[in-house]
Amino acid sequence: MLVTNGRIYTMDLANPLVDTLVVRDGRVAFAGRRADVNVSAAAGVVDLEGRAVVPGLVDAHGHLMHLARAQLTLEAGGASSEAEVAERVAARAARTPRGEWLGGRGWDQNRWGARQWPTKASLDRAAPQHPVALTRIDGHATWANSAALAAAGIDRATPEPDGGRILKDAGGDPTGVLIDTAQRLMQRAEPRPTAERFDQAVTEAIDECLAAGLTGIHEMGVELYAVASYRRLVERGRFPFRNYAAAAARSESTWAHYRERGPETIGDGRVAVRALKLMADGALGSRGAALHDAYCDDPGNTGLVLIPAEEITRLTLEAAARGFQVCVHAIGDRANTLTLDALEAALVRTPHPDHRFRVEHAQILTERDIPRFRQLGALPSMQATHCTSDMEWAAERLGPERLRGAYAWRSLLATGVIIAGGSDFPVENPSPFHGIYAAVARRPRNGEDRGWQPEQRMTREEAVRSFTVWNAYASRQESELGSLTPGKLADLVVLSDDLFTCPEERIPAITPVLTMVGGEIVLRRSLG
Ligand SMILES: [Zn+2]
Repeated sequence: MLVTNGRIYTMDLANPLVDTLVVRDGRVAFAGRRADVNVSAAAGVVDLEGRAVVPGLVDAHGHLMHLARAQLTLEAGGASSEAEVAERVAARAARTPRGEWLGGRGWDQNRWGARQWPTKASLDRAAPQHPVALTRIDGHATWANSAALAAAGIDRATPEPDGGRILKDAGGDPTGVLIDTAQRLMQRAEPRPTAERFDQAVTEAIDECLAAGLTGIHEMGVELYAVASYRRLVERGRFPFRNYAAAAARSESTWAHYRERGPETIGDGRVAVRALKLMADGALGSRGAALHDAYCDDPGNTGLVLIPAEEITRLTLEAAARGFQVCVHAIGDRANTLTLDALEAALVRTPHPDHRFRVEHAQILTERDIPRFRQLGALPSMQATHCTSDMEWAAERLGPERLRGAYAWRSLLATGVIIAGGSDFPVENPSPFHGIYAAVARRPRNGEDRGWQPEQRMTREEAVRSFTVWNAYASRQESELGSLTPGKLADLVVLSDDLFTCPEERIPAITPVLTMVGGEIVLRRSLG
């Protein structure tokens, strides 16, 4: 097949801009000038009509399983008050059989007037006959009603687990908010969707990712039931996407399974479980990110460490010995220090020249830790949209001093590391163009011309690398993916606008016109 008549940004330094590709057996067979191709031999032609093409865009930190679950549950995002979420719950309860579980996701008390935690009382009034458990937008807190607390066996006597918090009122009763590891008590009580419903939800989630312009993700934390669904869909030829997945360590059965079996490749390799995801701390929005010094807006609170450094070291060695890459969620500066310390200790015990240990988020760093990524060979995996979403309130939490090491892309790049780029969807929108815009503009999409620490911006070239070649490296797939180099898989996205030359404000509105995964057209759209 011939893909021709466009501006094809190959992201291959040796051959950066071409007008024609030849795709054969799912791979790039040629990248160059149309004049050098025997056009009459082509079995099919994609006429780009002058459009820009980039290699397949990959989100290095997404949650397909959670996006699928979100299709089945209540959307609690975008609400501007606790009452508004409760109204949605009441409406859903009115058409749901009594006693059936109502799950949901997306609320964010930082968008509400007083920025206070919600309580079970509003949900009890909205749905007294249904257990209700709603996950916060970042996945680090759950807001439940009395029926759900009862189903999970949580009452005033329930001890707080390590790395978790059960918020209580002045009288000692749970208020309904569970933070970080305390959420697992609720997750155990929540019934799973049937395989059939979940498969359908995964299909819809993949469609959403393709429509956003992605060709693949690195899924940071899968459980066995989700992998089983992906396998069924791959076998039926209904998985037009790539997923390099990390097993969720917090799901004990999942890691127990993979520790025994080793890395898994499904079908032609479009789905693979070849990494382990650990969580060192919580998140900034729920003040669970572990900081060296207390939160500026919550004196005495330094956040939550979910796993001791020695345990990260032990699991890193265990996983590496079985052929898994290790990816550790670390948001706060204390979590990042202890994660890098843990890696350092692991490397002292067992040197590993090419471990590609990843730090997911690497969001708040002390000046001292910034060069340690390069020194230790750790890869920061960052989400530029978190920066532009958090800038409203991050300063209140962190204060000016710590902000200097927050979302510090330029400081990290200057040390010689690469940055894997992602969105953390469904925390953020899965559009890679939102991420690229946030990385180059460091400004919210609402048009307000108010940049933030502009010295930390990426160039467009770097931002696109962080969704292509750098992500391929961060998943050990650089010989197969990341650039449109002959021999690699033919994953590409034809764009509505030229990402490299369009006005900056235009970037977040870019959409895919045609998407190819392994030489197969998986999305085609007219611009109307
Ligand atoms: Zn995440």
